Amino acid sequence: MRRFFCQCGQEIFFENTHCGVCGSQLGFIPELQQLSSLQEDDNAWLMTDLFPLQRYRSCFHRDHELACNWLIPADSPNTQCISCALTRTIPMLTQPDNWRRWRTLEAAKRRMIYGLLRLNLPINAYYQGYEHGLVFDFLEDQRTNPDLALEHVLSGHSQGVITLNAAEADGSFREATREAMNESYRTLLGHFRHEIGHYYWDILIKETEHYAIFCDVFGFTEQDYQSSLNSYYSDGPATDWPEFYLSAYASAHPMEDWAETWSHYLMMSDTMETAVAYGLIDHFDYASDFDVLMTDWLSLVVKMNALNRSVGNTDAYPFVVSASVRKKLKFIHQLLNPLKKTRESVAFL
Ligand SMILES: [Zn+2]
Ligand SMILES: [Zn+2]
Ligand SMILES: [Zn+2]
Repeated sequence: MRRFFCQCGQEIFFENTHCGVCGSQLGFIPELQQLSSLQEDDNAWLMTDLFPLQRYRSCFHRDHELACNWLIPADSPNTQCISCALTRTIPMLTQPDNWRRWRTLEAAKRRMIYGLLRLNLPINAYYQGYEHGLVFDFLEDQRTNPDLALEHVLSGHSQGVITLNAAEADGSFREATREAMNESYRTLLGHFRHEIGHYYWDILIKETEHYAIFCDVFGFTEQDYQSSLNSYYSDGPATDWPEFYLSAYASAHPMEDWAETWSHYLMMSDTMETAVAYGLIDHFDYASDFDVLMTDWLSLVVKMNALNRSVGNTDAYPFVVSASVRKKLKFIHQLLNPLKKTRESVAFL
């Protein structure tokens, strides 16, 4: 994540709608990945201090509990920003807790989409009429609403539709699930990054020239998905999984390995951008040599873990990057390089 500053000089953050010092309204411009202070012109269009000739409107979800701070170009026919418009189903808002869940889900989704925009990845939305266009359904089940027929909502992706259990927005639910599943890491942002990985597999790998190399690196996807998952849940992972995978779950099937590794790559690129913005590492370029990037990354995570232990938390980065995992991350890095090179400038110093 880049670092943003208000026109008054105060540091402002990705989720902010107002500057805490000068009171300016703030808005995020997805096309430029910039958070900027805003003024209204004579016709009540919003103008940014960064691009005074361009006019914007707020997302429809700015002025209620969702507090979305993303902007829409003034000439757009849409009322919702590109992130909010991707959500098709939300949990019933008659339950007050669901407002909080929806807000938490949307905030994590915006952060995930920021990472996609930085990598120049295409977002072919269902509301734009794309076949298998991207759309999100946030669903409840009986665990949060006993009146519902649905017993268990499982997060997943199918043909552009990403389903997430709205209860994953609750820290207590996530922690209980993390312990029950014996995971070392479970975050809402991680769920979004994992599921969007399945979406991009369909776009970037399936039926493309990359499929054969994908199979070399991750394994054959013909292996029956459901029976692989069933045996993972009944028998557990092989004891040597850390030699080959980032998580035990990644060992269930090559498609899950891909989604876990993809999610990890998005985490790495976003975190390294943040580290440069705060002076923790000297340089990060989305299109740089993979070995250089990994050396910087591994030295950064040592610092992150040490800082976390000092404040009494568990490791921020509880992963081991084996040679096999490194090969998979490199495949994703090289796959995305042509997209990244179309960016004007991706080095932040
Ligand atoms: Zn300010
Ligand atoms: Zn919005
Ligand atoms: Zn998955």
